[in-house]
Amino acid sequence: MVFFVFCLNLLYHLTMKQDSTIRQNIPWFETDYQKKKDWQKRKSSHYVFHYFKNSLAEKDIKRIIAVQERSYKKILRILKLKNERKINYYLYPSKKTKQILMGDDGYGNAIWLEIKKRKVWVSKKFEVHSIYNNKIQCIGPHEDTHLLSLPWGVSIFLFSEGLAEFMDKKWCGKDIDIWARKYLKENKLYSIKFLLENKNWDKVNNMIVYPQSGSFVRYLINTYGMGKFKKAYKGTSRQKILKENIKIMEIIYLKPIEEMEKNWKKHLGVEY
Ligand SMILES: [Zn+2]
Repeated sequence: MVFFVFCLNLLYHLTMKQDSTIRQNIPWFETDYQKKKDWQKRKSSHYVFHYFKNSLAEKDIKRIIAVQERSYKKILRILKLKNERKINYYLYPSKKTKQILMGDDGYGNAIWLEIKKRKVWVSKKFEVHSIYNNKIQCIGPHEDTHLLSLPWGVSIFLFSEGLAEFMDKKWCGKDIDIWARKYLKENKLYSIKFLLENKNWDKVNNMIVYPQSGSFVRYLINTYGMGKFKKAYKGTSRQKILKENIKIMEIIYLKPIEEMEKNWKKHLGVEY
């Protein structure tokens, strides 16, 4: 069976409320889904799934549970994370219904609204909202990675989306490195320096940046280890300016950004 995982997500922006609180700034977010009384519900070990009666999600719920439970365990194992909370997973039959009930028609969103940075990171919500129908089946590790990695803080898009894609491995059915190699050949990749600046993500092509970020993050993790990547993830921040984030990267990896980028492209194994 062709398993089509395709999660476009949350170009969420953040503002600092206090030193100890980070807010997810998603002004479009609606909570009408909470008023819907006839959600069908199914609990599994680490999730509560909510779906429409007579929908494809209802038909496929066993498979969806299996995919998410497998993803959940993989995320915690690879990133060496712990989690006590269940994820509320909402499955919508169409973009339109999703937009009406939660405010966005994107394929998938991780909703956490606010985290308090104390000894234990606590988010106000712990939800995934996804489209699931014959054409779009936004399930898999991507959105759950955003939620489960919150104890690492909220890094710049290059790393948070890159990490989620690293966990997904595939973009539109093909390995992220295959996409990165294709865009490298076509000279369509963005510079890493450009992607380190969050505000530039407003004007990028998602078909390129998601697999590109995933491929770059995979390269960093496989070449220099998860420990260094975790330091880079935690050290960089959306509240810091580009110069500071670059400096943190270069201190951790002991190389200029341009050299890391060149080595990643070499690693992709393409003449350029
Ligand atoms: Zn994402």
